Amino acid sequence: MVATFTVGDVVITKITELESVGDTELMLPEATPHAVQQVSWLRPDYATDDGLLRTSIHAFALATPTRRIIADTGLGNDKQGRPVPAWNGMGGTFLEDLAAAGFPPETIDTVLCTHLHVDHAGWDTQLVQGKWVPTFPNARHLFVRAEFEHAEGAAGHGAAELFADSVAPIVEAGLVDLVAADEQVSPEVKLVPTPGHTPGHTSILIESRGERALITGDFIHHPVQLARPDWVSGGDHDPARAVATRRSMLSEIARTRTLLVGTHFAGPTIGHVVPDGDGSYRLEEPDAGTDPVPQPGPS
Ligand SMILES: [Zn+2]
Repeated sequence: MVATFTVGDVVITKITELESVGDTELMLPEATPHAVQQVSWLRPDYATDDGLLRTSIHAFALATPTRRIIADTGLGNDKQGRPVPAWNGMGGTFLEDLAAAGFPPETIDTVLCTHLHVDHAGWDTQLVQGKWVPTFPNARHLFVRAEFEHAEGAAGHGAAELFADSVAPIVEAGLVDLVAADEQVSPEVKLVPTPGHTPGHTSILIESRGERALITGDFIHHPVQLARPDWVSGGDHDPARAVATRRSMLSEIARTRTLLVGTHFAGPTIGHVVPDGDGSYRLEEPDAGTDPVPQPGPS
């Protein structure tokens, strides 16, 4: 599935690799069906009537006036040693879908990974004649230095396998730039540090013509965490820091009416964060084309 959103002069295209229902015990252990059913606004887009969460793995292709960027690269085909059985030996049409949406891989000039987990950097490489080669051979791959150094020694959840088959070949090809967690990527695109899920985790801020949008990465996995910001992921490196990051980001996003663009949000995927009492929030769909997105005020 392909969907397009516009933020000023930047066009964001969502390329879906895999959508799922349920099986979120590792992602959000507290999200039992009963607990999810209490958050009624999640239905039908983000949860089923039975209280199962809908999730998605997708990439965002960004066309700016000067750059062609892919933000997170999903699982990839033919990978092995992944923590979820369905993620091994994938044979999906992601690259064909990306090209059909106007982004043949060789036209991408910048690859961003919010963090180096198996569902965010998989398509950095593809298997060609038994060898892992860069999928985006003409792109600089911007890895946050702290994230790269963490990933280099990580194990479990497929981390060592990811580094070997999807990160090391990019390094060997000379396509990596290690950058700061607040790197300005282009005039409209900037990294924002959002640590907790991983040490060097970043989100991606898009600002153009007074409009703002934030690609989350995994500082939030599912819209249910707007209502329950304290629900942590089983994959969080530092759960307490992840909660602190999520709370401060949601507050800032609501205050500045920044469009939230969810990295694992199924269906509509984007929305505005609206306070909903007691430090919780809900996601409101933007009005097509007419929604004012004011400049951020003083903090
Ligand atoms: Zn993820």
